[in-house]
Amino acid sequence: MEILRKLDSMFEEPMDYLKEPHGLRDNGQILVSPENLPLVKVFLNDHRIPFTTKPIHIGPARHRRALRPTDPYQLSEIVTSYLSYDDQMQYLDKTAAAFPYTTQIKNIGTSTEGRAIKIIKIGFPSPTNQQKPIIWIDAGIHAREWISYSVALFFIQQLTQNQKYSSVIKLIDFVIAPNVNPDGYEYSRTKDRFWRKTRSKHGDNRCYGSDGNRNYPFHFGEEGVTWNSCSEVYPGPYERSEPEVAALVREIMAYRQDIKAYVSLHSYGQEILYPWGHRTGAYPPDVNDLVGRKSVLTNCSRVSSKF
Ligand SMILES: [Zn+2]
Repeated sequence: MEILRKLDSMFEEPMDYLKEPHGLRDNGQILVSPENLPLVKVFLNDHRIPFTTKPIHIGPARHRRALRPTDPYQLSEIVTSYLSYDDQMQYLDKTAAAFPYTTQIKNIGTSTEGRAIKIIKIGFPSPTNQQKPIIWIDAGIHAREWISYSVALFFIQQLTQNQKYSSVIKLIDFVIAPNVNPDGYEYSRTKDRFWRKTRSKHGDNRCYGSDGNRNYPFHFGEEGVTWNSCSEVYPGPYERSEPEVAALVREIMAYRQDIKAYVSLHSYGQEILYPWGHRTGAYPPDVNDLVGRKSVLTNCSRVSSKF
């Protein structure tokens, strides 16, 4: 890691690590601009770090994916294109209007640039009037991980419209926040495809945005962060400095007695990560439940898949 920090210091902006290596035998992935590539190659060769390079073309992808669907109510539109924030919210409103008995929308806060952070609760009313167990799902705290928003919308579509799940939503309430970083997402859609953070600006910070995923109060800023505001893993000046995260924490804490599972959707790396994330080798007491009965993920947080 020290070598990587040295690499960071060679450039005006810190490197953008799509994946940081966990230890010497692990591999990592860095997003490097064509201008910086020659220098990075020299550095890696000097330090005898083996590497391969793979070109990615950002422009055409943005054009293809930014198409505006004609009717965001259709399942096909959710799974074949990336909706804008406005269309995501329109989809949410239409769903709530179509299924008033099983859904409820709540505005839990406002982003730095004034966009609403909304959640939708999906479930049949409790027969006893007691709060049912809740599964909380949020998506897109990392703006460039676009597919996470679509997955959340797909969950909403399936839970409200697929009869197969009606017995599930009788027992459980799903609370889904389909876009918890709307400013970052819109910036990623329209200005910089690889934008990951929020769009706040704090004090004299040179760069915009904090890594919302590192802005939570639990063990804030202890490990895995960089205090340079231009870094992709800058956690913000203090915990909950980001209004999006403050809103999420407020709402999660209000429901905390009833939340039985919490899933935050990301998209990079085809990995399933389970707690804790603030320190390597620290696990909650029920980690085995999380790892799974069939031990699919035993001793390993990476899941291979063929897609
Ligand atoms: Zn992420």
